[in-house]
Amino acid sequence: MNRDHSRVRVLLLNAALGPLDYSVPEGMHVEYGSIVMAPLGPRKIPGVVWEAERFPADEIDANKLRPILEVRELPPLSAPLRRLIEWTAQYYFASPASVLRMVLSSGAAFSDKRPIVEYQLNGNVPDRMTPQREQVFAKLVDVQGTISELAYKADVSIAVIRGLEKLGAFDRSEVSAFSNISPPQPDFAKVDLSQDQLAVSTVLRDAVKARAFKPYLLDGVTGSGKTEVYFEAVAEALRQDRQTLVLLPEIALTEPFLDRFKARFGTEPVSWHSGLKQSERKRNWQTLASGEAKVVVGARSALFLPYKNLGLIIVDEAHENSFKQEDGVRYHARDVAVMRGLHEKIPVVLASATPAIESRHQVEQGNYEQLVLPARFGGATMPEIEALDLTQDVPPKGSWLAPTLVNALEENLEKGEQSLLFLNRRGFAPLTLCRTCGHRIQCPNCTAWMVEHRLTRRLACHHCGHVMPQPDKCPECEDEDSLVACGPGVERICDEVKMLFPQARTAIVTSDTIWSPAKAADFVHQMEAGGIDIVVGTQLVTKGYHFPNLTLVGVVDADIGLEGGDLRAAERSFQQIAQVSGRAGRAEKPGHVYIQTRMPNAPVIQALVEGDRDGFYEAETESRRAAGAPPFARLAAIIVSSEDNSEAMETARLIGQTAPKVDGFNVYGPAPAPLSMLRGRHRHRLLVHAYRSVDLQHIMREWLVKLEWPRAVRVGVDVDPYSF
Ligand code: ADP
Ligand code: ZN
Repeated sequence: MNRDHSRVRVLLLNAALGPLDYSVPEGMHVEYGSIVMAPLGPRKIPGVVWEAERFPADEIDANKLRPILEVRELPPLSAPLRRLIEWTAQYYFASPASVLRMVLSSGAAFSDKRPIVEYQLNGNVPDRMTPQREQVFAKLVDVQGTISELAYKADVSIAVIRGLEKLGAFDRSEVSAFSNISPPQPDFAKVDLSQDQLAVSTVLRDAVKARAFKPYLLDGVTGSGKTEVYFEAVAEALRQDRQTLVLLPEIALTEPFLDRFKARFGTEPVSWHSGLKQSERKRNWQTLASGEAKVVVGARSALFLPYKNLGLIIVDEAHENSFKQEDGVRYHARDVAVMRGLHEKIPVVLASATPAIESRHQVEQGNYEQLVLPARFGGATMPEIEALDLTQDVPPKGSWLAPTLVNALEENLEKGEQSLLFLNRRGFAPLTLCRTCGHRIQCPNCTAWMVEHRLTRRLACHHCGHVMPQPDKCPECEDEDSLVACGPGVERICDEVKMLFPQARTAIVTSDTIWSPAKAADFVHQMEAGGIDIVVGTQLVTKGYHFPNLTLVGVVDADIGLEGGDLRAAERSFQQIAQVSGRAGRAEKPGHVYIQTRMPNAPVIQALVEGDRDGFYEAETESRRAAGAPPFARLAAIIVSSEDNSEAMETARLIGQTAPKVDGFNVYGPAPAPLSMLRGRHRHRLLVHAYRSVDLQHIMREWLVKLEWPRAVRVGVDVDPYSF
């Protein structure tokens, strides 16, 4: 592999260290990408063997090299994946080690090599029973799993399961990483595609066969059958015996996706998200690395996994902002997906009813091919959309729903159809105010108000997670009974609904109530069974779901998203409202949408009411062009933070003063960051604006690498930032 066969460079899984050279003991076989254990001081550290020329490192004398300790029995990381790791680190100003950690999934690859042992009740019942043991026997009939999985499912402690295992109540079996799951069948269910669907799916099938890099924008209105169409591409990848990765923006969407996939392909795909248990994580990592897992559905972190022979990537709801990772390595999964496709030489499909301006721009530039599904499947019509002017159609004092919307809800209830109220605010009220002294309850760690969560009787900061019990008097003037909740959150809207319609069955859907795939599944099944009349939810309910009996959607406050006025405010509002509207009337029954607003003439609202998506996009794109904003130029934010405000300010000023003077490259600030205090750290921000003709990464690297700042100061770069 290199001239000196006994010397290799290893990228260690430790962000603080660069790559180091090691010697290869006689008889040990390593290649580029091999996953090894290497000595570092007294410790043993995992790492990956890398091309030396890609990472400069200090030369170590040959006689001082320490030997690699062990090569793990894991497939070596492929060259395309190694290039992706390098690109991600370089583009997003991250250390290669921190990207590598996502690949090796914080140890999923390294957990010990003992086989996974699963247990199952075998009919032996111990003489002495306890209520907890009774519970085990009641809940675990026909259930097989690891000890901790069984404890979780039976809702008892691990000790209870262990005790029963010692008494011989369980049979044990060793399961291989890939346990007896039959692979998905490309032709399991027969689907008759419409003409439009057939045309698009043929293009995608051919793309999979061609085994070449090509990005597609699958642009189809809500309910047009985008999933059905990209399933045809998945089927083709299965026939070619190549793997598919499907990225979803939200783990709450996983469960409905699994059901649908199973109906189409006969078996569930392998899933990847933060809700997995360590044993599942390990198993899934190994099956996708060995190539046994044919289809993986996951959150953005699934992008970096070491698939054996990836043939297709699909990014569903590709416009979603949740694809942007906001801490650690700050990457955008939609962009990394396209880069992975480039390196793997495979097609990438971005599916959306409301594509990002950036993606449409790529189509215009000729970089992506656009595939259009213009109509809803099966003759279902698009919903009727109407704006309700809150200055005319005024809600009664202390309530938030306009009379027209209340009437519509009532009629819908009488018809036995389901309704959805959308408000992108968790909790009961976004602000608690003292009527006597005017004090507003703020988070002690952040520049943010504490949000009242009445269901749990607490106030919570949505930025750092700080919680406090709901106070019974003002913390400032100590006046009792003077605190008032200001503004609505979903809990408050739900209270209003219950007052208006005591007989209605309601559900609140937010990340507070739907925090696991299992909770999402419960919600979906309840909706499908007709057990819910009115849903009140945040952006969590705007996407993906298909409920045939849901015919009315009310947008409680269309103006919130437009406040603050960041670059993407109008685009994001449009997407959210269009998506939530798309939940209405997806089957035979027509849908109706009411948008409550104080600005019925705003371009966003007008475009929604008139169904003029493309007109809105064109105007928005033009205003970006005129302003020199992305996608016509690039931005990067430099966030300087410290617990000590003057230290952070000083460093930010130093960075600003040393900014390079290059044509087409401008630095603005420093100024206090929008969240000027977060988790107890003061934050200052510089904004870099660069035209596409200059190499932003190169200039910034040259600039920042020369600077030094106090240890307690953190300097983070957010390339293509979304929140600013
Ligand atoms: P989208 O992802 O574009 O919102 P879906 O793929 O969810 O649309 O399709 C909407 C509904 O129409 C789903 O219930 C889906 O099963 C159904 N559907 C779409 N295409 C077909 C088809 N060719 N045959 C049968 N049902 C279809
Ligand atoms: Zn906070």
